[in-house]
Amino acid sequence: MRKPISWFFPFVVLASIILGCSDDDSQGENYKANYLPTIDATNLPVGNSPMTMFEDNESSSKMYDNKDRWFRVNQPMQIIQKGKDSVQVSLYSPVGLTDVKIYAKLANYDKRFLIYEFTKVPAFHRSFHQIPLVNGKHDYQLENGKTVTIDKIDGFSSGAIQFSVESSDPLFAKFKKIKSNRLVQFSTQYHINNPADDPNKFLPMNPVLAKEAITMIINYSYAISHPLYYDTFMNFDRYKKEQAATAGTAINGALNWHGNAEDKDGVYDYFTKAQIEQAYNTYIDSRTLNMAMVGGGSAWGGGALASQWESGYVTGHWNGEMSVWSHEYSHHCGYSHSSNLANSGEGGGQQEMLTDFYKYLISLNDLPFIDPDILKGYSKTAYLKGNYKKPVFKINPKNPFLLKYKGEGKWN
Ligand SMILES: [Zn+2]
Repeated sequence: MRKPISWFFPFVVLASIILGCSDDDSQGENYKANYLPTIDATNLPVGNSPMTMFEDNESSSKMYDNKDRWFRVNQPMQIIQKGKDSVQVSLYSPVGLTDVKIYAKLANYDKRFLIYEFTKVPAFHRSFHQIPLVNGKHDYQLENGKTVTIDKIDGFSSGAIQFSVESSDPLFAKFKKIKSNRLVQFSTQYHINNPADDPNKFLPMNPVLAKEAITMIINYSYAISHPLYYDTFMNFDRYKKEQAATAGTAINGALNWHGNAEDKDGVYDYFTKAQIEQAYNTYIDSRTLNMAMVGGGSAWGGGALASQWESGYVTGHWNGEMSVWSHEYSHHCGYSHSSNLANSGEGGGQQEMLTDFYKYLISLNDLPFIDPDILKGYSKTAYLKGNYKKPVFKINPKNPFLLKYKGEGKWN
């Protein structure tokens, strides 16, 4: 019989402890484990301070607080340690999750163990939970189903516990496929600094629009992580040839991706294969993305910024109208109008390809969120400047992805 793991040391020296029995610390076959109860986050006591983020009537100042509201697009279920003894759990998703398992990993113990098990986490949920290790000795389930018993640990320095999330929910399976690691947030800086000659250049957002923006960016990040997109991106020269063949014309404009050097008489600064791969990585790396809204003559992108009109957030993305967004997102990734990663001329580049691809994914039901009624943003007239109808998606029968893949290619 192996003895339980024991830590009697204060949290500050935790990282220096080495366990004596590192091969297998789990309890024997006949051990009767006594696990912590599962948690239903739709029904939490006040002690957990449960709340719904981005309620329609929530003050916009909360969504603009970048210390409090931010998430990475591949981690909509976010666990952040708060103080030395608790965590903040947030779900940046318009649809809730079921069966969410939060695993903990300590620096001096090589196995992940189940620290919280949520039966349900509702949409845009946030709550706070004590780390059970600080309140006593408990049994925890390991990933292999065995049990580990861990003694009370008084507290944890910041970053001493690595949290990871698993879930059998099909929506979570989609989140897990997202390769992009963008950090998404909202910022007042744009509309607060509007120029005098264009006071509506940027408009303030509100929680209704922020929910749509979060939904769209998760879908968009899934789309650009999709193997079919990656294949088309890496072989854009093939895509251009196929498009021309289907149309029965010569290739219009550039034969492949090219960069920001000015185009002169049909001479382009074509990317090498390695540069194309690098360009793909600019779309999915960990830089910060400030999502904003415009009301003036143009949408804007560059640096952390990418923006589009209200209609793009409220109805456009549900119909796959991602042209403006993908253009501004490409500016945000560093491409100018001389590159076909941003430019839409000459037979099209990223802007057209992505839009056709995105529509194809909607037609396949191969995005995390397909139904505009999960938010009903279009109906919330009190929070919108324009009037909108429920978006109804239709795919063009001449969509190049539909013509080529004929309903195949879903990301399984
Ligand atoms: Zn532009």
